[in-house]
Amino acid sequence: MQRLCLRYVKIVYLCTMIDSPKGRFAPSPTGRMHLGNVYTALISWLSARKAGGSWVLRIEDLDPQRSRVDYARQIEDDLHWLGLDWDEGGLDDRGAAGPYSQSRRGALYAGFLDRLRSTGLTYGCTCTRADIMATQAPHQTDGRVIYAGTCRPAVMPCHAPGSAVPHAVRLWVPDRDIDFVDRVYGPQSVNLASHCGDFVLRRADGAWAYQLAVVVDDALMGITEVVRGNDLLLSAAQQIYLYGLLGLPAPSFAHLPLVCNAEGRRLSKRDSSLSMAELRRTHTPDALIGRLAYLAGITPDASPCTAAGLLDRFDWSAIRPVGSVTV
Ligand code: GLU
Repeated sequence: MQRLCLRYVKIVYLCTMIDSPKGRFAPSPTGRMHLGNVYTALISWLSARKAGGSWVLRIEDLDPQRSRVDYARQIEDDLHWLGLDWDEGGLDDRGAAGPYSQSRRGALYAGFLDRLRSTGLTYGCTCTRADIMATQAPHQTDGRVIYAGTCRPAVMPCHAPGSAVPHAVRLWVPDRDIDFVDRVYGPQSVNLASHCGDFVLRRADGAWAYQLAVVVDDALMGITEVVRGNDLLLSAAQQIYLYGLLGLPAPSFAHLPLVCNAEGRRLSKRDSSLSMAELRRTHTPDALIGRLAYLAGITPDASPCTAAGLLDRFDWSAIRPVGSVTV
């Protein structure tokens, strides 16, 4: 009987472990965080913690020119100041799925690139940026660049040997919709051929592309829910396509309205008045969390509160599927 009970407890424990969500915050350490980054961090943390799950801090320092370890240190300090704690990751690589900085995960990305190569759906591309821009339709005004397939082999899948000249590695995309349900914006259908065309997995200079790195990392780190700004909503389709090709389970996706400044422009690391350097000078942590909670629609006013104090009140239905919120 006792044995049976123990087994039951073990099964229940295992089920909770399997069911418990794992979220993550994946900042690029290319500058001080701004209010929009912190908004994402807070909602992602609340979602994971409210469900009894864990939270990972991954340093997305793929861009060697712009990433700096000082910025990563500052991000950690800002998260501590806000009361957003993580169970895994960070600069000290806490946890079993490290390293947690993308700049040190190249060997893993290379292994997954080989797996994609073996499908015959990748090819070398020697187009320069100027070549690609010259093929863009004149009406293309939303800043999206769609690869016209200039270097794509006539027949796909192909197993042609790589060219000797430096080249990017691109992934062939199908001319069909990728469907998924976003937790905030609902059902989405994205045709990758018309949305972005064949996309880059590794750049000609050897740098790893975000789309490959993020999929490998989220999968290997066991992430079950991705929460981030809606500027990456369409990227989710590219990532779901990659999960499918690699036979990896995809996480759920929740994209958030972008935080805009009073002029209606999306915040950038250049908006110094809403950067954490300035916000920490003008707010207490509780005042800033209160302001964010109000912005997110979690609270009826911006009264000061702690992140942990919001756990009871947080509900995904508070986040409206609008394009942006204005501070
Ligand atoms: N590194 C990206 C950023 O800082 C986030 C990417 C993601 O969450 O998938 O905006």
